Amino acid sequence: MNDETSFSKETSIINEASMDTETSVEMEASSALQPDRVSEWAQLHAGIEACRACPLCQQIHHKVPGQGDPNAPLMIIGEGPGETEDLEGLAFVGEAGKLLTRMLDAIGMPRDRVYICNTVKCRPPRNRTPEASETQACFPFLERQIQLVRPKVLLLMGRPAAATILGETISITRTRGTWFERDGMYALVTYHPSALLRDPGNKRFAWQDLQSLRDRLMDLKLYPDLYGPYL
Ligand code: SF4
Repeated sequence: MNDETSFSKETSIINEASMDTETSVEMEASSALQPDRVSEWAQLHAGIEACRACPLCQQIHHKVPGQGDPNAPLMIIGEGPGETEDLEGLAFVGEAGKLLTRMLDAIGMPRDRVYICNTVKCRPPRNRTPEASETQACFPFLERQIQLVRPKVLLLMGRPAAATILGETISITRTRGTWFERDGMYALVTYHPSALLRDPGNKRFAWQDLQSLRDRLMDLKLYPDLYGPYL
């Protein structure tokens, strides 16, 4: 499978899947969680909804907590909501989100099998990069999401997400494709889909990263129904 074509296949199916994301989340929240964890998630979402801890909340339509499988072994963390995400209150549903769906499809991963969120839950004006103070103010919510989902693998998309989790300033071009271990989790750094839309030439590197991600998920036997049977 070559690089860019891998992200381009079955586009119509993927777009339909993207539109069904909210429905999937509601079903998962009602069927897959123990009652106490439903309450914990509800508290988290209420806290995000009420939060005024940084200026990003001043010009938004919706908070964007994140969504997906609340028990997912794989958690994807991006930078912050964009325009479509702000309007819909869902993470990764704009053009970058559609590309993410195609990227996951290229490694045989249905989007509703992962948990997806951002470092900040409010859209930065004009999609600017969140300030360090804003990321810091929002970090307790991200930290709580990680505690609740308990993922084994993190995919960190873009420099702000990588810097937030790894606790250091990084260069994406130098760090992408690198695995880290943090608090018992494996973390892989790669390009944010928005950056790939701006510079499609980097898709070939992102495809290498996705293959590495798929191999790690296989090695850890985290999605046996997708990648098994394991020998
Ligand atoms: S970005 Fe996070 S910390 Fe800032 S107001 Fe929104 S929810 Fe609160």
